[in-house]
Amino acid sequence: MISFEIPESIRQTVTMIEAVAIEMMRPAARYFDDHEHEIPWDYINFMHDVLGAAGGMTMAPSQTPEDGKPRQDYQQLAHYVEALSWGDAGLYLCTPRGGLGAAAVAASGTSEQKAKFLARFKGDKPVFSAMAITEPHAGSDTAAIKATAVRDGAEWVLNGEKIFVTGGHKSLVDTPGFVVVWATIDPSAGRKGIRSFVVEAGTPGCTVTKVEKKLGIRSSDTASIVLQNCRVPIENMLGKLEEQKRTTEGYKGVMRTFEATRPLVAASALGIARAAIEFLKERLAEHGIDIRYGLPRSRLTNLEREVIDMEIMLRSAWLLTIRAVWMADERVPIKAEASMSKIKAGDAVVRITQKAVELLGPLGYSREHLLEKWFRDAKINDLYEGTGQINRLIVARRILGYSREELS
Ligand SMILES: Cc1cc2nc3c(=O)[nH]c(=O)nc-3n(C[C@H](O)[C@H](O)[C@H](O)COP(=O)(O)OP(=O)(O)OC[C@H]3O[C@@H](n4cnc5c(N)ncnc54)[C@H](O)[C@@H]3O)c2cc1C
Repeated sequence: MISFEIPESIRQTVTMIEAVAIEMMRPAARYFDDHEHEIPWDYINFMHDVLGAAGGMTMAPSQTPEDGKPRQDYQQLAHYVEALSWGDAGLYLCTPRGGLGAAAVAASGTSEQKAKFLARFKGDKPVFSAMAITEPHAGSDTAAIKATAVRDGAEWVLNGEKIFVTGGHKSLVDTPGFVVVWATIDPSAGRKGIRSFVVEAGTPGCTVTKVEKKLGIRSSDTASIVLQNCRVPIENMLGKLEEQKRTTEGYKGVMRTFEATRPLVAASALGIARAAIEFLKERLAEHGIDIRYGLPRSRLTNLEREVIDMEIMLRSAWLLTIRAVWMADERVPIKAEASMSKIKAGDAVVRITQKAVELLGPLGYSREHLLEKWFRDAKINDLYEGTGQINRLIVARRILGYSREELS
């Protein structure tokens, strides 16, 4: 049965994460916002040890059913991500032991590949991974990527440019991690030529060329990567795919990865949104304004109605998120639900943080408080892993029964 409460087995760790958020993340949030590109090693090392102590868990959905055990890995992650992002969304993205690359391996790799590439997250030192799909001319239209992979004996030779890779620098330069690179093995085959390749840190021909300066989530590095005759072993192509065959299986791996991670983006958005609402209500309470829940709407002040509407947005988006991760734990496909949760949460966090800034006026706009930062951190949740528009298309296709060709 679906429950919207935090399961008891997860609550303990959430309580511990909340303490980290209060004691470590909030105090460091402004510093790392001001010092973009400085790596928050204290947080990274601490979280590596904390997650290690919590059973060596990784920050990527496992996708591996453990028969006989209640499946709660997605629900667990969603609660952790929400609590960490309540602390600070940029620092949350600097949490080791996983990342998008690990999620891609979990979604598309064979059991041997999972064993080989995911083991490093449980080692002594923090390790990162990333996923590189976006190119200068290919964002929403992922099938338009131009990076190529050409087979040469026992290796794949990769060439191309990738941009806006979250955690790319940490995965390739700062730690012995990896980036999962999407490339085509047949440029004339569109989606049917796309495959994913694990490129490990230190591989010759793979260079981080730039780290972005950004509006928000500034403590998270967002890198450009150039691949120039970059050689990886043939077994680094994820999945058991016949390379000669034109198949959309490789492309479906991207979609499986997003299906797994979009509800987690939603959870991150809602951590920020909750922080903004709490801050707003605390400031209002300091001025003697408490929200009179339970009164008819017509008897509430406009301010009270605004706050209650923000809370409705937050809760309804959270319910969609919890539904998506609960279904994922039940191993029910969540293509539409994953997109729904991300659309709703992406909208909610942008509107809630904007409204909180508006209602608090100068207090909301001032850099003395974190609210203006949360307002900046919010927007990314509506952009990466599929913009709001693209996720709406996915949901519409699913509900109306249209194919990608019929509705794009
Ligand atoms: C901070 C940050 C981190 C990122 N991290 C990663 C990462 O780790 N890995 C990675 O591969 N990428 C990453 N990205 C890239 C991100 O996923 C893309 O920016 C996003 O997919 C949009 O692509 P685009 O920027 O090329 O915009 P475009 O695709 O050019 O879209 C521009 C606008 O047009 C709209 N649009 C496009 N097509 C349609 C359509 N068919 N119907 C309706 N509207 C449409 C879009 O919604 C958007 O509003 C990151 C981006 C940022 C900003």
